[in-house]
Amino acid sequence: MAGPVFKQIAIIGVGLIGGSIARAALEKGAAGEVVLFDGNADALRRAAEIGFGRPAATIEDAVREAEAVFHCVPVGAMGATARASIGAMKAGAILTDVGSVKGTVARDFRSLERADIHVIPGHPIAGTEKSGPDAGFASLFEGRWCIITPEPAGSPDYVAATDRLAAFWTTLGSKVERMDAQRHDLVLAVTSHIPHLIAYNMVATAYDMEAITEGEVVKFSAAGFRDFTRIAASDPTMWRDVFLNNREAVLEVLGRFEDDLTALRKAIRNADGQKLFNTFTESRRIRREIIDAGQDTAAVNFGRDKDEKK
Ligand code: NAP
Repeated sequence: MAGPVFKQIAIIGVGLIGGSIARAALEKGAAGEVVLFDGNADALRRAAEIGFGRPAATIEDAVREAEAVFHCVPVGAMGATARASIGAMKAGAILTDVGSVKGTVARDFRSLERADIHVIPGHPIAGTEKSGPDAGFASLFEGRWCIITPEPAGSPDYVAATDRLAAFWTTLGSKVERMDAQRHDLVLAVTSHIPHLIAYNMVATAYDMEAITEGEVVKFSAAGFRDFTRIAASDPTMWRDVFLNNREAVLEVLGRFEDDLTALRKAIRNADGQKLFNTFTESRRIRREIIDAGQDTAAVNFGRDKDEKK
């Protein structure tokens, strides 16, 4: 059997995503050794206890021998953790991340001026609303897309490093897509960022309504609202950073969303049943396409019952 893709990797930030990478890399043989660092001493201790890898005393110690360094902290902290560790990285190593926004992370990483380090930002499209090391599990990335955003043209060494990173994610069970960072941010604004904003806003609206009590919201929460609350339970730090770092794309998509919402409001006001029916029929077709593409199951609760038990 061929050896691991990387002899050693470093994980900076050992929460849901960092912990899942560590666990999957060891279980599936994608990395020979995993070294861990986290600014939160309790999280680092817990990650080592669970068996994610060997904890390092400092961020520099964590990255020193790593062939690939994965920054798995909130998007707003990526620049700081990369800056703190870049000087200790060995020549030829890969600097990558898992952040939900790619434009600002790519810019921060590329400003670090280590020509002998391969900067290849990434984003696994997999996750749950949970946080912390205990939320991590090895099968998180199976069958999920991982987007990597390499530079369009690079040296043969850079191309080889990109192929190795792609092979790492494939070994974890992901399907890999290469994409420009700006395009990633626009696509994710549509498929992830705005839906989260809507969920946060829907839950806030329900709790702000004076006409219905909080008890009624909880007691009668039907499938629609319940699914919104699951999404709106996502980590506040992570999502604050997503919106602060993907402002342009989010505002562009939000503008389109507001136009479409206005059209629906008008249809309701004008009792335009045909407009409502057509819009809902089109939405149902898109849902069917997502299920057919294997991106979700037809189960209720967005098919997430399996994840929630973890
Ligand atoms: P998480 O479970 O909260 O883990 C992040 C860890 O990083 C925490 O232990 C945190 O400590 C630590 N940390 C924060 N700032 C740090 C710093 N400056 N230096 C060192 N450690 C620091 O978060 P996550 O859900 O794994 O998300 C991590 C990244 O993955 C984010 O960039 C997010 O956008 C991306 N992502 C998330 C999902 C998802 O569904 N959650 C999916 C795909 C990608 P504290 O708890 O003390 O802050």
